Order: sequence, then C-alpha cells, then structure tokens
Amino acid sequence: MSSNGRGRPPTMDTAVLELVRRRTESTRVEIARELDVTAATVTNSVKRLLAAGLLWESGHARSTGGKPATLLRVNDAARRALGCTIDHDRLSMVAVDTTGALQSRVVLPLADVADPFEVSEGVREGLAALIPEDELGAMTGIGFAQPANLPEDVDQALHALTAELDVRATRGREGTCAALGSFWSGEQTGSGLSGTLHLGSTTTFALLLDGVPFRPDNGQALDHLRVDPDGPRCTCGRRGCLHLYTAPCGVDELSRTALAATQGSETAQADVLAAALPLTRVAANLAIAVGLDTMVLAGTPVQAAPAIYLAAAHEHFGDDGATRVVVSQVQPHPCAIGAAVLALQAFLDTGGPHASSVSKVPPSAP
Ligand SMILES: [Zn+2]
Repeated sequence: MSSNGRGRPPTMDTAVLELVRRRTESTRVEIARELDVTAATVTNSVKRLLAAGLLWESGHARSTGGKPATLLRVNDAARRALGCTIDHDRLSMVAVDTTGALQSRVVLPLADVADPFEVSEGVREGLAALIPEDELGAMTGIGFAQPANLPEDVDQALHALTAELDVRATRGREGTCAALGSFWSGEQTGSGLSGTLHLGSTTTFALLLDGVPFRPDNGQALDHLRVDPDGPRCTCGRRGCLHLYTAPCGVDELSRTALAATQGSETAQADVLAAALPLTRVAANLAIAVGLDTMVLAGTPVQAAPAIYLAAAHEHFGDDGATRVVVSQVQPHPCAIGAAVLALQAFLDTGGPHASSVSKVPPSAP
C-alpha cells in the first residue's frame, strides 16, 4: 500500500515481512514458494530487510540433505511504528513493534476536535510520551486513522507538526485501519477474503485480501445504504438509511447504551439488539455477495457488548459456517493499531531506511 493510500500494490518487502511475521519463522525457499516468486526476488528483498534490521537470521532449518537453510525471523525490537486515532473527544495513540505487537499506549482527552492547535499539540504530547526523542529516528513513522469529517485545518496542522518533527506520516480511513488492526492482532485467519464493518464516525466496510487492503482507498461509508424505503426520513433526503437503525442516536450514545447493557440493563440490551440486527443483516448480505471467509464487526459499541452483536449475527449468518464472524476486541483501539501498521507498510513501500526521512505527507483521504 502506498503512503498516500492510493493505487500501488504492496511491495515485495512488505509481503516478505508480513509472511515471516505470520509464520514466526521461515526460510527463503519457503517464502519464494508461498509468494510464488523467484528465489532471486526473495534473496534481494531479504537482503534489504536484513540491512534495515527488520529481519534477523535465527538459526538453521533441519537439513534435508544439502546445506541447511537459514531461518528468518522478524526483529521485533528493531523499530517502532506509531498509530493515532482521532475521535471527537480523545486521541488514542499506540506504539507497535515490527510484528504489530502493542508496546505502549496513551489516551489524551480532547476538548475540541476542531481546534487545530489542540489536536496537534495533543499529538506532540502523545509522541513524547510514547517515544524518547533520541529514538524518533528509529521510528518508521506515524499513521493517522482519520474520521470522515476531520476539519481541513486540523489535517493541515498535523501535516505541519509531522514535517517539523521530520516524522513520516500516513493517513488511512478509519474502516481500513480497523480491518488492519484486527488482522495484525490475529483475529482473522492468515489468508482469504475478510470484510470489516466498523461503527465509527461513519459506518464503513473495508475488505482485506490475505491481510492487504483490497483497494488502497477502501473503507466505503455505508451510512446511506437504503435498508427501508418506508423508514424515517434521513438528512440526505431519502428514507430508511442504514445509520438511522445501526446507531439511531449516534455511535457515542450507542456505546453508552452498550455499556449499560453489559451491566444488566434490560432496556439497554433491547436497544442494542435492535441496533445490532440491521447491522448484522447487512453484514450477512455483504458476506454472501462478496464471498467472505471472515466478517469482522468492529467499533466501540460492538466492543462494549460483543455477546449481543454475536447473537444478532447468528440470526442472519446461521450455522452454515461459510463465513466466520468475529467481534473485534483489539485494545486499546483497533484503528490506532491499524494506523500504526499502515505506517509500517508505508515505510517499507517507500524504500524503508534507504529513502531519506523526508516526511511523506499525502493529501488527506477523501
Ligand atoms: Zn441518508
């Protein structure tokens, strides 16, 4: 995935690193076979990754006659990637290692998400808390999971901050970040087609194929998917749009209701189920239409009341087992982890440590 989230397939280095990470340990021959590329391609890629300190040689595979093959592992201590999710009332920031494992986290409250100074100073504070200044150079960059309605001047302030600090910045849609966060946290099987329905600033649907975003700009908003032509009037002028059912009073209110539901409130349980049923109906239809191996349900309300969403999913997915349904439980925030993964992938795709550390700041995602 390119740093601007558009148009370029993941490079060989990303694919090799991702494969070794998934298998824990692998040889060059296995990598070439698995990725269906030549041994020379793998050798070159591994050479770059070894030089960058992202892989290390961990020993030898058992010999099958000839010279024993060298085993490769991801060097999890090598580098850090940072991820940041901007919610309307807080910044959630994480540092992950090269395997995607969470190293540290910080949550900073926001009084006004539309205030460029407050948001950028919050990110500056979070960076300082997560990474000592002398280690900034060993960082791969920072990924931002951006809400759909982030004001332009806030985005510009973040550009200015990352340029000032000479930190590479990558941006992704919330839904894509939620999908990547779930995948790298091991919630999905290693291969196949997975879809993630994420309840965030909008309800989005993102596809991953073998852990890679299906289209770099994927994560389509489904808010105005029409589910009932006779339903209530939406601000878009039509009737019966999906978001009127899946989060009738907004996602924050639904998250509070979901918490009350898990604390035993029967009214809250009924309200959450009423919101979960239309969401999971759409999820089941998408799973059939696209032929999904895994469907991930993500977002704060889902995370707060997983049992209700799973029960609702069972109503629509049934028992046939064609699609595995997962409720994402990535802590502290799947989008923040996914944004860090995006930063790590962008780092590899732009030539890793061989490129200058000029901040690659693309235009914001649409
Ligand atoms: Zn609408």
